[in-house]
Amino acid sequence: SIRFDAVSKSFGAGQVKALDDVDLAIADKEFLAIVGPSGCGKTTCLRLAAGFEFPTSGRVLVGNAEVREPGPDRAVVFQQFALFPWKTVVENIELGLRNRNMPREERRIRVMEAVELIGLNGYEGAYPHQLSGGMQQRVAIARAYVLDPQVLLMDEPFGALDAQTRVVMQEELVRLARRNPRTVLFITHGVEEAVYLADRVAIMTRRPGRLKEIVDVKSIREAEGWERYSRIEDV
Ligand code: ATP
Repeated sequence: SIRFDAVSKSFGAGQVKALDDVDLAIADKEFLAIVGPSGCGKTTCLRLAAGFEFPTSGRVLVGNAEVREPGPDRAVVFQQFALFPWKTVVENIELGLRNRNMPREERRIRVMEAVELIGLNGYEGAYPHQLSGGMQQRVAIARAYVLDPQVLLMDEPFGALDAQTRVVMQEELVRLARRNPRTVLFITHGVEEAVYLADRVAIMTRRPGRLKEIVDVKSIREAEGWERYSRIEDV
């Protein structure tokens, strides 16, 4: 779970108030998307949960622990895939595990499971420049999943992809989230993407960044009898 308790965040001696008194609770295994205009503080929320930044006031908790630094319980997927160009797919995925004292054989098994799960079979030895954007983002997602984190933090992961690839990746993420549910905080500009992917959608406004409303799209989906897959199958 992730919890923001009355979180405010200012930058630069307080001139920029990025977040103003945000309260938000994401349950275990819940998929929550944050949408809102540029500058409303979406990325700041994610960076606070990741432990890259700290609140000016209030608290951010992951599980029951206050976030004080980045930790192995959280994995982050960025818009720009942030892969090492000189490393192969498998080496990129394995990187996160290297810092843990895991026997080589177990590492290998975990990496292969992630390769399978994210649909990268056949690309194990490829370098990032040999892959399409969609495939590169798969590697970044596999690198996050291989860590077996409690929480996945995704910052516009499909923002750099072309429209068609984005749809394919959205579908893949839905499948993944079903097979392998995690607590997910997903940042996006796209309301449609948020509604399609998430259990609940948090809508933010800016100046200062505030949480305006939370919409339980899962309940709406279930009440209206449509599935997360339905939009994709129309394509
Ligand atoms: P976008 O959709 O454009 O990525 P966002 O909703 O993710 O925007 P944030 O990146 O969280 O918004 O930024 C919120 C506000 O805080 C903006 O006014 C931004 O300029 C400011 N801000 C964010 N990080 C910093 C920083 N390190 N130093 C100063 N100001 C910052």
